[in-house]
Amino acid sequence: MQVQSASAVTLAKTASALQAALPPGVHVLERGWLSSNSVLFEEGERLSAVDTGYVSHGRQTAALIDRVACGRRLTRIINTHLHSDHVGGNARLARGGAVSIWIPAGAADAVRAWDVERLGYRATAQRCARFGFDGVLRAGDVLELGGRPWQVHAGAGHDPHMLMLFEPQQRVLITADALWEDGFGAIFPEIAGEPGFVEQRRSLDWINRLEPSLVIPGHGAPFIEIGAALQRAYQRLAALESSPQRNARHVLKVLVKFWLLQVGQAPIGRLIEHFSRARYARVIHQRYFPGLTYDQMFEQTARQLCHSGAAALDGSLLIDVSRNA
Ligand SMILES: [Zn+2]
Repeated sequence: MQVQSASAVTLAKTASALQAALPPGVHVLERGWLSSNSVLFEEGERLSAVDTGYVSHGRQTAALIDRVACGRRLTRIINTHLHSDHVGGNARLARGGAVSIWIPAGAADAVRAWDVERLGYRATAQRCARFGFDGVLRAGDVLELGGRPWQVHAGAGHDPHMLMLFEPQQRVLITADALWEDGFGAIFPEIAGEPGFVEQRRSLDWINRLEPSLVIPGHGAPFIEIGAALQRAYQRLAALESSPQRNARHVLKVLVKFWLLQVGQAPIGRLIEHFSRARYARVIHQRYFPGLTYDQMFEQTARQLCHSGAAALDGSLLIDVSRNA
C-alpha cells in the first residue's frame, strides 16, 4: 500500500497569505490528488472537521488533525458528500464513540443500510470502512462551525446529494467537488445515464450568485481568483456536454488512479482483473468504448494517466506517481 509521506502533505493555510482570508480558527489540510482536503474548525476545547480523506490515508489524517488540535478533541465530522475520498477517515476518527457524524440527507438511507451499491463503492471498486451517522444536513440549513453560522447549499452535479458550506460574513465557500481552481469532480451520474451536467451548471450558477471571496475546494489549495475558476469550469462543462465520451474517459482515469493510490503499483493485467468487478467501468465500456476490448480500454487509460504525469509505465507495470511528492 502506498501512502503519501508526511512531507507530501502541506498544511496549506498555516504558512500562506490565504490564511488571513480565512475566519480565525479555521484550518485547511490540503493533500495530494484524490484524497480530499479536510477543513478543521476550532471550537473552544473541541474541533469539527469537514471531510476526512481516503481510507488508506486514515492514519495520516488522524496525525494531521492531532497537529492542529493542540489538545482539542475532535467531536464532529461533517461530510459534503459520501465519495470514498471524502469519508474514508470517518470510521477511524469516530472509533472512540465521542464523534458525531453529519451527512447529506439524500444519502442517509444508503448509509443506514450500508448499501455499497448505492453509495458507489462497489460500482467504483473502491474501499470504505463502514460508519454510521448522527444527523443529516439539507440545503437551507444553517450550521454553527467555529462559532460562526455557515449556510448549507446544494452542489449537485458530480454527486446528486453533494452539499457546499458558505460563511456569508467573510464570504468563504467550501465547494467540495463542485468547483476546483481548475475544473470540478467527474460527473458520475451521467455515466449511468442519469442527469448531471444540468445540475453541475446550476451549481456553478449558484456559486456565481453567492459571490464568494475565497473558495476552499475539496481538492487543491484554497483560491481567490473565483471568476477565472468559474470561467474554466463553464468551459470544461461545455466540452464535456458536447462529448460525453470525454467525461467517461475522465471517470476511468479517476477510478484507475484511486486504485493505484491504494496498491502503489501493479501489472496492467491485475488492474484489468480488479476492474472486471466494477460496474461503472463495465457501463463505460459498453456505452462509450464499444470499439475497444475491455483490456484495450484500460491500456489506453493507463497510457493517458502516464501522459498526464499521474502514473508511469515500466514495461507492463503501472506505477503510481503521487502529485506533491
Ligand atoms: Zn467526490
